[in-house]
This record gives sequence, structure tokens and C-alpha cells, in this order.
Amino acid sequence: MSLKLFREMLEERGLEVAPPRPIKITDLTPRDGQQCKLATRVRTDDLLPLCEKMDKAGFYAVEVWGGATFDVCLRYLKEDPWERLKTIKSVMPNTKLQMLFRGQNIVGYKPKSDQVVKKFVEKCIEHGITVFRVFDSLNDNRNIEVAVKAIKEFGGEVHAEISYTRSPVHTLDKWMSYADELIDLEPDWICFKDATGILMPEETYNIIRGLKYKVGNRIKIVLHNHDMSGTAIMNHMMAILAGVDMVDTVLSPLAFGSSHPATESLVAALQDTPYDTGLDLEILDELAEITREIKRKYRKYETEYAGVNAKVLIHKIPGGMISNMVAQLMEANALDKMEEALAEVPNVEKDLGYPPLLTPSSQIVGVQAVLNVISGERYKIITKETRDYVEGKYGRPPGPISKELAEKILGSGKEPDFSIRAGDLADNQEWDKAYNEAKSILNREPTDEEILLFVLFPLQAKDYIIAREKGELTVLPADAVEPKEMKPDGLENVAPVEFEITYHGDKFKVKIEGVSPEQDPSKPRKFYVNVNGKLEEVQLQPLAVTLVGRSGTFAPAASASATASPGKPRPEKPGDVAPPMPGKVSKILVNVGDQVKKGQVVAMVEAMKMENEIHSPIDGTVKDIFAQVGDNITPDEAILRIE
Ligand code: MN
Repeated sequence: MSLKLFREMLEERGLEVAPPRPIKITDLTPRDGQQCKLATRVRTDDLLPLCEKMDKAGFYAVEVWGGATFDVCLRYLKEDPWERLKTIKSVMPNTKLQMLFRGQNIVGYKPKSDQVVKKFVEKCIEHGITVFRVFDSLNDNRNIEVAVKAIKEFGGEVHAEISYTRSPVHTLDKWMSYADELIDLEPDWICFKDATGILMPEETYNIIRGLKYKVGNRIKIVLHNHDMSGTAIMNHMMAILAGVDMVDTVLSPLAFGSSHPATESLVAALQDTPYDTGLDLEILDELAEITREIKRKYRKYETEYAGVNAKVLIHKIPGGMISNMVAQLMEANALDKMEEALAEVPNVEKDLGYPPLLTPSSQIVGVQAVLNVISGERYKIITKETRDYVEGKYGRPPGPISKELAEKILGSGKEPDFSIRAGDLADNQEWDKAYNEAKSILNREPTDEEILLFVLFPLQAKDYIIAREKGELTVLPADAVEPKEMKPDGLENVAPVEFEITYHGDKFKVKIEGVSPEQDPSKPRKFYVNVNGKLEEVQLQPLAVTLVGRSGTFAPAASASATASPGKPRPEKPGDVAPPMPGKVSKILVNVGDQVKKGQVVAMVEAMKMENEIHSPIDGTVKDIFAQVGDNITPDEAILRIE
């Protein structure tokens, strides 16, 4: 459908069309694009040639950072996210770099103190960010105030976001009242964002038109619209006719579906019209070619949920959240419960007052829905995050909290109180704690950047910094070949790729994660072996090989030097405390000899990016503690023993 046709459709119905003007484009390929399509796994080295070329294309801004960047850099890529930003800026001196900023949650999953928010903003600008897309997943705009002020103070550009969802409490009036709140903060831009991809063209027109009326020429408007249901490019057209100043796009190889409409498509559609973006399709084609190469190299991270899937119109769950839920159910060995978990999501959403499903509320809702299903009883296990949410630590939800859930968490007759801002409820000692921890690990004064890593991702930062200091950063290269996984029963000629070994009485969980492509057969190949959750690189030089079979013999194997913690006993006694799902021990809240009550929280296990409370199954005394903070743990292993 052409612009002209859209225009006539609106005019026939007496709907006003905004005066023509050139449309600006922000390209999101190096952040949102690769996050949606390649699980954020593209390494800095592979982004640089693209970024360097993008610098000359004439985009309003290019999004390169934020969102999952920090988490994935530390957890999987073993890269310093600050270094990434600095390096990208060095090849993009002419372009405004953009980041996504989760308001008081910064780039993490829970609200931080104002001190941390300000320090973070200062460091971002120092490393090269100009444009900050700032949002709060509940649209509680008290949660973006401190960030907005800091961005202005340090000379950045504020794009304050309104996050779309569909619910009984989200009306056109509600969107307009959010806009009023944002206008009071005097942002440079207002961004209307649909991170799920369920917005429709007519509603887009109404909302953008409404926003334009409100802001006049004082504040510019940008639309950020994921394409899950396939309507985003139509929404873009309607937004343009309604007066939007800019749209967000992604280069075609990583565009559409869970991502955004393609940059080239928009540019071509508007070319030689009064809305011409001024961007050159030939240059964009060169950028697309580099992006295609990246996609080829990282194809193993392409997810099943990356394409257009109109089912989103029924369940309204963002793609990223679905793939998280799949991963969680797989870990819990309950993938057969997927449909049930998807059906539970809207119930949890309603109980929590209809939060838009963005980080961190999407994680809180998704994990709670999964737990409600796998534990066999709704809210039998309540995550710390759900508890904090109901206690107001994340801010004010758009609608009311279910009375039943509120009483379960707060006590009977109690009602949630959302009058205190999340930043004021955050731990204001966290900067000092992180400073002390970083200093003790580094044996020197930590930099602000290092302290921020510890504040934002304590466990991941610790692993990363320790490995970096020892010179032991090991990563699975993008082109390593992953072994094909099958269940062992009944097959012939198989070799195990995931197994448990008992060595001198200690049990290790081993998984072959990948192997470098074979080049010179006389040289050793690199195997990436995950031992108890820690990735090790092993050089393997085969000296003899054999075919494996049921009674086959194996060739001599390489021996990896395992440095894992000693094994933990299986939970056998009624007082043995084990986690309900695999995870990382984040806190141990008791000492040997402590008296505990049944149901008391004795430890915390981080799983699915959430902290889960681990309760004592009995009244008794803590006899033994088998795990340490930072240990990876499975439901087959006891954390501690109570008798
Ligand atoms: Mn997005």
C-alpha cells in the first residue's frame, strides 16, 4: 500500500494528516537488531566493520548499547561492556550513539539507588553515548526522573519512552496522561514504544496524532515498533501521516519479525516523496552486506521465535520472553508445560496490575508464570522479585494488584503501598559494598566502571573480573561447531556430549559445548568443555581414533584439568535443602548451628535471572553447609542440611 492510499483513507474519514516533512531514521542493528535475531551474541570485533561504515550513512543516531548488552558481554562473551562502547565510539566519531536505559533499573533487573544511576549516566557519556532512550517497564515515570535529570546535567539527549501494552487499564487517555508526565520532565524526544509487536495502524495514528497535539513543536516524537505480528511497517506509515518525526529500523538481514521493519524498506518507500529520509540505498546495501555476513557467522544463535508470528496477537507475549520461558521449562525438564505456562501469563499479568511486558516486568511475570505451572500450585513458590514488586520496590503498577496475592505476600488485610519511589527503596549502600568487593578482588583501587559492573551484575562481574585478572577468559568462538545432541537410548555409534563423571569421589557435570573447526589435522583442535558450569578450553590432539558402537572402544581421550568445587551430596534426608531448579547460589543466609523454622528462607539461588528463595523444609538446626556463594547447583545437590 502506498503512502498516498493511506493518506486518502485518512482524509476520506475526515482525519487530519500532518504536514509533509523529511523523516529521520535511527538504525538499531548493532543493539536491538542483533538482540532480537542473534541473542546479542555478536562480538565487538565483528560489529566494528559494520559500525565504521554506518558512521558515514547519515542516520539520526545508531543504537549500539544497553538492553541485554551488559548481561551477555559479562555472562557469555567475556567482554568488558565499557571497552565495547569506547571501541565502537572510536570508529563512529560522526554519529550519535544511542543506548537503551531501563530508568532506575539502569541495564539490570532491579532498581538501583540514585547515586548509582547518576554515576552510570556520567560514565556512559564519557564513553561515547549521546542519546538515551529511557523507560520504566511499568511506565512509572518517577523511575526515570533521576536518570533524565542526570542525562541533561551531563549533556546527553533524553528520549523518554512510553511503553505500549494492551489491557483493560491502558486506554488512549492513559497514554496521553503518561505523555503529560513526560512533558513535565522536558525531554528532547518522546518515544512511543511497542516492544511486543501488537500495535495496529489505526491505534498508532490515534496515539501519535494525540502526542503531536500535546507537544506541538517543543518535543519531537519517535516510534519504536517491533514487528512480531507483521503490522509494524503499516504502523510506520500511519505514524508518518500522523506527524511522527522519526522511526526506528534495522538493516534488512536482521529486520522484521521479532525485530523492526528494514531500514532499506522504509528509505525506499519514502524516497522521492516529501517524506524522503535523504539516506542512500546504495550505501545501505553495503551495510546490509556486512550485516548478512554477521548473520551467517552467528546463525547458530538464530532463534525459532525470530520470525513474524501472528500468535502474538492472541497471547501478547514478546518473543524474547517466550524464548526465556522455553529455556526455563527446559531447565526444569518440563517443556511439555509450555502451553500451560503461556496461558498462565495473562493471569499473572492481571494479578500484578497489567505491567507492560518489558524488562524487568517481563521476567518477573514470565518466571512467576513458569513457577506457578511447574510447582503445581499458583504462587506456591513466590520469587523474591514478585514479592518486591508487590511491596512497591519496582514502582507503581498501571492497575490494581490482586487482593489475594497482596494478602499472601503482605499479610491479611494489608494493601500494597506504592507511594514511595523505587529509587528511595533501593539499597543505598550498594555502591560502597561493590567498591569493597571489587577492591578485595583486584587488590587495588577499582575504577568507577569496575564498581558499576559489580553493582549491576554482582555474580557475573565477580566471575568475569576474577577470570580476567588471572588471564583465564575463555569463550566459545562464534564459528565453533556445536555437537548435535540426541538422547542416548537405543542409538548406535554415539559418543556422549553431556555426562557426569565421578573422579576421586567428586562428581562433575561435563558438557562438550563446541569444537573449533578442523583446520590442520596435525595441530590440536580446541574443545570447549563446560565443567560444573564453567567453560574450559581444552586442546585435543587425537593420536588414535576408533568408531564407537555399543561395545565399541573409545580412542584415548584428552584429560581436562577440572578446577570445580567439590561435589555436594544428593538431597536424601527430609532436612536436606536443594533448589527447585538449576541455578547459582547467590546468598546463604544461615550459619552452621543456627536454629531455623520450617519455611524460613535459608538461601537464595539465582536462576532464570531471578533470585529464588530457598526455604527450610523442617524446623531444626543447620548441621552442614555444602555450597558456597557463586556455586552452580542443581536440584540433585543439597545446599545445606538441617536436622
Ligand atoms: Mn526494542
